[in-house]
Order: sequence, then structure tokens, then C-alpha cells
Amino acid sequence: MKKILGFRCVRCAGEFHFGKVKYVCPACQGNLQIIYDYKNLKKRISRNSLKANPKLDIGRYLDILPLSGRNHFPPIPVGWTPLYSAKRLGARVGLSHLYLKDDGRNPSASFKDRASFVAVGRALETGEKVIAGASTGNAASSTACLAAGTGLETIIYVPKSAPQAKIAQILVFGAKVVAVDGTYDQAFDLCLKECEKYGWYNRNTGHNPFTREGKKTCSFEIVEQMGWKCPDTVFVPVGDGNIISGIWKGFKDFYELGLIDKLPRLAAVQAQNSDAIIKAFESGREIKPVSGKTIADSISVSLPRDGGAAVTALKESGGFGIRVSDKEILEAIKTIARTENVFAEPAGATAAAGLAKAAGKRLVKADEKIVILVTGNGLKDVQSAMKAMEGEKKAMGSGLHLSLVGIS
Ligand SMILES: *Cc1c(COP(=O)(O)O)cnc(C)c1O
Ligand SMILES: [Zn+2]
Repeated sequence: MKKILGFRCVRCAGEFHFGKVKYVCPACQGNLQIIYDYKNLKKRISRNSLKANPKLDIGRYLDILPLSGRNHFPPIPVGWTPLYSAKRLGARVGLSHLYLKDDGRNPSASFKDRASFVAVGRALETGEKVIAGASTGNAASSTACLAAGTGLETIIYVPKSAPQAKIAQILVFGAKVVAVDGTYDQAFDLCLKECEKYGWYNRNTGHNPFTREGKKTCSFEIVEQMGWKCPDTVFVPVGDGNIISGIWKGFKDFYELGLIDKLPRLAAVQAQNSDAIIKAFESGREIKPVSGKTIADSISVSLPRDGGAAVTALKESGGFGIRVSDKEILEAIKTIARTENVFAEPAGATAAAGLAKAAGKRLVKADEKIVILVTGNGLKDVQSAMKAMEGEKKAMGSGLHLSLVGIS
């Protein structure tokens, strides 16, 4: 069954043959969206077909993924992460139907595994020998994890400043690391050049049209896990804008297939100095680079690479943007750990920080069904977690001291 009609450019709306273009729009360099034959797919995908599907990972959505079969799936399953009813966190901010989706529970401990699963699957399917990518850390550790043992060589470009645990993951999984003495944006451009020069498969976010397709599976899971209900608002941490545009694509796919009868509103949460997407959304102007500086390394982006599709997702969904400070992000790490028992890295706690702020500004209603995404596990950046604890360290120290005195 033919499932894919082709590519459509998110910028100029030009349409292209699926097999003929590899990365971006040949006319304007815009990002490409994969267009499915929903009419045909409807015959195959229904609530019942999904209910009868025993596979609990993103492979269950093969019919609506740009992969031709299971033969070239990466060796380890991804997705079907838990969706918790976050009652204690909800009560704290005055919300009665809050849910938390913990994507730190993926093989390499971040949301990026969804994207890497599809990109690595595509590389294996098309017989690539080398997959390369630039990353703030998680896309890299994820690609290295999913490509390990497949024969595909992985080469990664990361800023030298990436958290150590992420670099350790990349190395342990056997990938080659190019530590760039610069920012993520510089690593991105270097990777682009080297891929062209050596003919490697490029996984770069916003350049490779397959990553968004993996990310959309999170929305499919949310709908299924909520018993075929669509949430009212979804809070998403945003850097390059590939997660939020993927989340939007997922809900739209399900809507087009007739599996849900409404669409949610999306809330983009960005660190206040890394807010290029919110700026473009609010001003109606083109995306312009910002400083990008924030403790949340995974969303520290000067020039977002999937910004156009992210702004479109915000517009189409009737959504809004929320900026948070590093202090609010660190506070949210503690809050979600202590209310919902989930340990998040800074970017992973950013949606929760944005939710607290939005609730304070009454941008959400008390009885809305709201989902916040936790996108990365806290063990990936222990240094920032310790920083979140700075105010409390002293008390901890003296408590330990006292109990030791008591023992002796
Ligand atoms: C990559 C990442 C994000 C942001 O995703 P974008 O597609 O860059 O917007 C958020 N949180 C974590 C943990 C990430 O690794
Ligand atoms: Zn175009």
C-alpha cells in the first residue's frame, strides 16, 4: 500500500517526489514535511486496529511512519513512555487535569530517541554507511545509542561545553565525537559541510525531514494513553522547534485519519535568552538569531533550525509562547521531582516551569486537560541538578554533620 504522497516545503509549499529529495526544499532550502495519503491510510488505521496492536513502542505506528518495514528498525525499541496523572503538581498550580509525559524513560534517556529511531531506520533502509549529526548532546547520545551494533558508523559534532554525561554516552555507544570549540550553531554548520564533503547521511535537526516524523509519535501515544481523548493544551520545551512541530504533526495526522475530532493548543516554552521562536511568533517577522544562552543546554539555540514549522504549529493551534528564566527552570527541577517523582534535566523541566508561569498568568483554565512533556532525564546533567540545590546544601551539610556527631 502506498502511504506517502511526497514532501511539502514548510516555507514555499513546493511539493516534491519522496524518493528524489533527501533533505531540504530544492527551491528555497526550507524544511520539508512528509505528506501521507490519509484517504488510503484510513482503510488501514483505526482505533480498533491500534487497540488490537500488541506492540508497545513507536513501531506500532509503522503504517504512518516513513519507514518501509520492520527489517531495518534500529535494534532497541523506543517510546510508549508513561503518561502520569500529575495530581500533586496540578494541585500546586490550581489545575485539576494535569498529565506528565516522561520521555526521559527512553533508551538513551531523552525524547530525541523518537527522532533517532526513524532517522537511523531510514539510514539503514537506504544502505548508508555513516550517519552524522550536530547536537547539543541528546540528539548525539541518542543517535549513538540507536545506531550501535547496526554496522552504521556514527559521527557527532557537539559543543565542547555539552554536559559530560551526554559525551560519555556518545563515547560508550561507540560513536566518534568531534568536540567543537564553539556553540551548537557552529557545530551544526560544520556538520553540514562535512556531510556534503564526505557523503555521510546527515541527521541534523531541521535539515533531515525524518526526525519530525519520529517526534510526532509522542502525540499518538498521548491520545491513546488518554483513552482517545485529545488534551486541551500541551506544554513543550522548545529549542530548534523540531519537537513542537513534530507534536503538531502527530495530532494533525490523527485528526486527518479521523481518530480524534479536535486539536490541542500548543504552548511553546523557551528559556528567556533562547527565545527566537517566540519572538518570531509574537512579532510576525522572520526568525532572527538570539544569544541562546541558558543553563538548559538542550534548548540553548541561537538560530532555530526548524523555526518556521514551529511558528506555524503555534499559529495553527491557536497557541502561545512562555519565556522562563534559568532560576525558574532550576526551581521546576525540584518541583517535579518532589511532586511527581520524576528527575529531569534542565530542558526537561522547562515545560513544567512554563506551566507554573502560565497558570499564574491565567493563560490556562483550572479544568483544562493539560499535558506537560518532560523531555530528558536528570542524570544527564548532574551539575545543573546540584546547582538547583545550592540554597539547600548548607542545611544538608549541617544535618549530616549533626548525625555523624550523634553516632560517635
Ligand atoms: C532537543 C531537546 C529539546 C528541544 O527540542 P527542539 O526540537 O530542539 O525544540 C527539549 N528538551 C530536551 C531534553 C532536548 O534534548
Ligand atoms: Zn521551499
